[in-house]
Amino acid sequence: MVGVSSLPLVFDAPKRGLPPKHFADLDEQGRIEAAAELGLPKFRANQLAKHYYGRLTADVQEMTDLPAGAREDVARTLFPTLMTPVRHISCDDDSTRKTLWRLHDGTLLESVLMRYPERNTLCISSQAGCGMACPFCATGQGGLDRNLSTAEIVDQVRAAARALRDGEVGEPGRLSNIVFMGMGEPLANYRRVVDAVRKITSPAPDGFGISARSVTVSTVGLAPAIRRLADEGLSVTLAVSLHTPDDELRDTLVPVNNRWSVAEVLEAARYYADTTGRRVSIEYALIRDVNDQPWRADLLGRKLRSALGSLVHVNLIPLNPTPGSEWDASPKPVEAEFVRRVREHGVSCTVRDTRGQEIAAACGQLAAEEK
Ligand code: SF4
Repeated sequence: MVGVSSLPLVFDAPKRGLPPKHFADLDEQGRIEAAAELGLPKFRANQLAKHYYGRLTADVQEMTDLPAGAREDVARTLFPTLMTPVRHISCDDDSTRKTLWRLHDGTLLESVLMRYPERNTLCISSQAGCGMACPFCATGQGGLDRNLSTAEIVDQVRAAARALRDGEVGEPGRLSNIVFMGMGEPLANYRRVVDAVRKITSPAPDGFGISARSVTVSTVGLAPAIRRLADEGLSVTLAVSLHTPDDELRDTLVPVNNRWSVAEVLEAARYYADTTGRRVSIEYALIRDVNDQPWRADLLGRKLRSALGSLVHVNLIPLNPTPGSEWDASPKPVEAEFVRRVREHGVSCTVRDTRGQEIAAACGQLAAEEK
């Protein structure tokens, strides 16, 4: 059991600082002011936004309609290099590609692109490392390095959308879905994540124009931040990593539970569902002999039905064990029985397909190996 006083949680001071300001940190007014500081008229700010969000380029040399004399200043002040790819690893017949990025200060982060017949999903990171200390998670073992800047979040999206468009990951395609399920707790980097969501969902030239309904923000259950997110008017999908319906086990599996209990998290989730009209996803990593008992399936079904009615869906995730961990995925028959029991309570429940296991695609595993 982890005591509250020992929690390395939300309010941990990050170990490192943010990168230099980047174009993708700025809103429309900020872009106009930044252009003016370089002696450029307002329409140049709009032109830069079209390049970045519309043509998916951060390379000023590709922006050939900019005056040649201005390009160097624009590159230096607005487009500092944020991320350099360290490795790309593909699997699942090249339909999954994981990228390990090195940031300006040497920090590592990961994003994973998954191609499906009907959608292309990018799993992005919101923090380098994570302070939530979930014991089954590779990222949680290393603690929080630092928050990502808005631009570092947004640029993961730009890079993936460009790679897809250019046919670097199979046939050319369009990025359709974003999930904040990579490294970090998105709601612990609240302001930058919300800012990034606005840039991901705004139509060009203010953003990439991805539908808010196709963006999922995943949290371990920072209840006040869930309520705040509900009031942003964003309509993104909320995913809550519950992992067990009882406080006793959850206190250890998801240490932040010591601060906000299952009941408080579900109340906040209900507020989110009522305010946005969106069904909440409950994420549940099924771990052999830890949280996969039939009685827990019944308790989960009962609690969700009573807290959220039909505004909930359970995603069971077969655990992707981290190297050296004593935990393993549940056997298939146990998993099937768990699904059956949750459904018996009138709660929809499916098992998520686990892409990328052979390339250590669970959050943080690749970065942990690199370190
Ligand atoms: S599971 Fe998510 S919230 Fe928990 S330590 Fe890992 S990255 Fe952080």
